[in-house]
Amino acid sequence: MTVHGPGPGGEPVYDRGGAVCVIGAGGSGLNAIKNLREAGFSVDCYERETTVGGGWNWRHDRSPVYATTHLISSKPFTQFPDFPMPDDWPDYPHHSHLLSYFERYADHFGLREHIWFGTEVTDVVPAPQERHWDVTIRGARGGEPRTLRYGAVVVANGHNWSPRWPDVEGIDTFRGQLLHSSGYKDPAQLRGRKVLVVGGGNTGCDVAVDAAQQAARCWHSTRRGYWYAPKYAMGRPADQANDLMRWLRLPLWLRRWLFTRVLAATTGDYRRFGLRRPDHKLFETHPVVNSQLTYYLGHGAITPVPDVARFARTHVEFTDGSTADPDVVVLATGYRPRFDFVDPDLLGFGDGGPPQLRMQLFSRTHPTLAVAGLVQPDGGIFPIVHWQTVTVARWLRLWESAPERATTLWDKHRHEADRQYSSAKVDRSSPRHWFELDHVVYLRALQDALRELEAA
Ligand SMILES: Cc1cc2nc3c(=O)[nH]c(=O)nc-3n(C[C@H](O)[C@H](O)[C@H](O)COP(=O)(O)OP(=O)(O)OC[C@H]3O[C@@H](n4cnc5c(N)ncnc54)[C@H](O)[C@@H]3O)c2cc1C
Repeated sequence: MTVHGPGPGGEPVYDRGGAVCVIGAGGSGLNAIKNLREAGFSVDCYERETTVGGGWNWRHDRSPVYATTHLISSKPFTQFPDFPMPDDWPDYPHHSHLLSYFERYADHFGLREHIWFGTEVTDVVPAPQERHWDVTIRGARGGEPRTLRYGAVVVANGHNWSPRWPDVEGIDTFRGQLLHSSGYKDPAQLRGRKVLVVGGGNTGCDVAVDAAQQAARCWHSTRRGYWYAPKYAMGRPADQANDLMRWLRLPLWLRRWLFTRVLAATTGDYRRFGLRRPDHKLFETHPVVNSQLTYYLGHGAITPVPDVARFARTHVEFTDGSTADPDVVVLATGYRPRFDFVDPDLLGFGDGGPPQLRMQLFSRTHPTLAVAGLVQPDGGIFPIVHWQTVTVARWLRLWESAPERATTLWDKHRHEADRQYSSAKVDRSSPRHWFELDHVVYLRALQDALRELEAA
């Protein structure tokens, strides 16, 4: 390995030639290693934890999953296209299935030998050598930093691990227990207690359903009206029914009409359950997939309440003036995407808004820097990640073999960062919806990109 002069901290820089650095060995990182290796690249993957699986490994400190987490996207829409989940697994596998899936995936494709476990990436900076990167790593438990030079970097650090704490009046004065959902692991934490769950996303609804079965009392605070999709529609997992409609090329208005008929036939008017009418059209936001919420509302086990106005020492006040006196408040208020190791400008992340990436994948300014898995599709994430990393691998190959043609292609697509991959209008004002995309629209765009790369 060639050694260059001092790196950012004065230490030597070890040159890994054209090798690619992958950050993170969750599902996205594992998939990136595999597809880059298949394209002939040397790969070094750095993983802070000591095992694979990322967020789906609930032993990891930063895992967002809880004991009752099951997929909300069904099996065929969540698995990698070239590595099916076992036939005898249910439609919506448990989080332990997902971990086992990623472990098998790593073993089947021999990925572990490319991963440096217990190693954290602390800095990624453009190297003096054009289009290369100096990556600084150190042991997750400390130790001396080390800098290595790579031909490209694929960031797969996940975006569901850094809790987003709400800034609500009086929250510091509250004497009960405040718990972000990242710290909620087991329904036993709620048993026999008065629980307020804040947040109407998928996690908030799951925790409210857990509380309905375990807690002495459960209030569920939501800010707006949402669409609550059942897990099954017309006898099939809901995403499969939706995809059938896409396959039949039904227009958006007809898909909306059909789905609202299904909802009308099953749940009916949400207001009967004390919920608000959705304030947006179906498919304009990432769906909440939960068949049990209305069931427990209907049994009086969950009391729906509006947004929290303020906390006081012993109680919580809501925007309609009503109050609750919970022992524990579970804040299912989501996660902040964080890329502490890289200059935010490189990801178009400077102004505090969502990262501005080309195709939600590549740095706008640096063609050898990509982020895999920074998407929130209307189905499972991993088939999308697969085609993202195939695109990255073929793109990097083109850079290596024909830089002039790659430059022409890169210039041609310079406006790609402004494109939204959705068939319906999506309101991105809330960070919760920053990364949403329509899987059909996005996969078509990746397919087009792959065709162009093939032709180039
Ligand atoms: C409750 C819940 C339910 C979900 N349900 C579904 C579902 O039904 N279907 C679906 O498709 N998706 C679902 N998701 C979303 C998605 O599957 C997960 O976010 C998934 O974990 C993404 O995989 P990833 O590899 O991109 O990120 P992660 O799983 O978060 O993995 C990132 C890895 O990078 C490592 N890392 C981070 N920073 C560094 C660093 N600086 N140096 C070294 N290593 C680093 C981390 O340790 C981690 O192992 C769900 C998410 C949540 C929270």
